[in-house]
Amino acid sequence: MSVDDNTPVLRGCIKLPLATDELLEVTAKAKDYAIMHGAAMRSKTSFSPDSLNFAPFVLVPSSFPRKEFEKAIALQPIINRLMHNVAHDEEFITTTLAETIKVDEFTANLFNIYRKVLAHGFTQAYSVGLLRSDYLAHVYEGCAIKQVEINTIASSFGGIATQLVPLQNFVLRELGHAEKLQRMPKNDALAGLCDGMVKAWDIYAKPQAVILFIIEEVSYNICDQRFHEFYIRETYPHIKVLRRTLTEVHRDGKLGQHKELLLGSTEVAVIYFRAGYEPGHYPSQGEWDARYLMETSLAIKCPSIHYHLAGTKKVQQALAQPSVLERFINDPEEMKAVGKIFTGLYSLDDNEAGNANYEMALRTPEKFVLKPQREGGGNNVYGLDIPDALKRMSRVERSAWILMDLIHPPLSQGYMVRPGSAMPPQIVDMVSELGIFGVVIGDAEHIVHNYQAGHMLRTKLSTANEGGVAAGLGALDSPYLIDSDDEDGYF
Ligand code: ADP
Ligand code: MG
Repeated sequence: MSVDDNTPVLRGCIKLPLATDELLEVTAKAKDYAIMHGAAMRSKTSFSPDSLNFAPFVLVPSSFPRKEFEKAIALQPIINRLMHNVAHDEEFITTTLAETIKVDEFTANLFNIYRKVLAHGFTQAYSVGLLRSDYLAHVYEGCAIKQVEINTIASSFGGIATQLVPLQNFVLRELGHAEKLQRMPKNDALAGLCDGMVKAWDIYAKPQAVILFIIEEVSYNICDQRFHEFYIRETYPHIKVLRRTLTEVHRDGKLGQHKELLLGSTEVAVIYFRAGYEPGHYPSQGEWDARYLMETSLAIKCPSIHYHLAGTKKVQQALAQPSVLERFINDPEEMKAVGKIFTGLYSLDDNEAGNANYEMALRTPEKFVLKPQREGGGNNVYGLDIPDALKRMSRVERSAWILMDLIHPPLSQGYMVRPGSAMPPQIVDMVSELGIFGVVIGDAEHIVHNYQAGHMLRTKLSTANEGGVAAGLGALDSPYLIDSDDEDGYF
């Protein structure tokens, strides 16, 4: 893993450990607070649509360097614009993905939809990007943030993350540390993201049309979708949200006279994809047909197919080359700032450079992570597992993957609280990944809305390569901002 015995530990928000009695009491209260405020999920082990478990959370907020947090926030509108420009560069997307789609069937299917849509012309010129740019602080560069990835589809946890600040505020007050609250930035991710959808709904300008959420067969992360739905209805009482699977859209969806997307007789203004980003979401050709139907419709997609493709790991790898970044960012200062958040990203295409990168991975695998074109966690290969994985692939199969420098984040220590886990929780070593949300709306020529829309912090056990919250190794959290010129510095 990317942490070892020498990894420094960030200064904590409060002194730990807590006395056992106090810990038991505050944890029990915090669990109930979480359930009652919707920091919750459906159980995978004993699923019922009628009940919720609290979502795994970190009891006391984890430290994050303020300077780096503020940098990430300030960069978001630039990253939004970058991704918008990338999504609209047909030549760049086509050449960047050319090798990958020869061997990666899923990306090829997405690309085929893109190609067909291009051939017929876009029915809807506008797209909405609800993005999330993810970062780890890198200890070797003074805890400077490095981008882990950028999500352009189903960027999740904006809803629950918004509830985490009040939850941890409650805990800190219970523990007699109200003075710590001022170092916890407020988080309006839910409003920011939903307002983005509503701005798209306004552009569509049909009072009866609805916002459609595309969902999985079973939504374990239900609160993180219902919050959005309820916020929209409460803030904009005239707008209705519908939830449908791709299978249902295939069954009930059709295009109207002007290519409006109709579900029965209901017209859809905006489509928000919370599914459709992994092969399992397309069990048959019917779901692919549904995706194509939506892409050819007049509805404004979040994301549209070109935005989806712009979020692939392969595109991220291509963008990390300064000569490529230049194509999309004119301002030299912005160029420099964005360039700094990229860590080494390497192509494994079947050419001279790709083959040299392959050799490098075999020589020093401990420096890298190997990533396929997938979203949703659990797909990457780490460190010493890389050579075997690479050797099992043919030369062309490698081009479905990219290689990335491992980022070495600092540790923090705290209590991770999970449904069903032993009480009281034990102090564990953890690592936090910061996500910044962004909203960008526009067409090929213009951007009409572009803003930063809140944040989320996901914290995992330091021993885990990945920290999927539902998968069991990660927990929701929010940042406690520390400064390098505080009395004790970061550590
Ligand atoms: P996914 O699309 O599956 O979320 P990510 O690129 O975000 O893929 O990788 C999943 C997880 O793997 C991240 O949340 C992070 O914990 C870990 N990870 C990814 N890239 C790196 C890296 N370069 N260095 C260290 N950890 C990484
Ligand atoms: Mg990720």
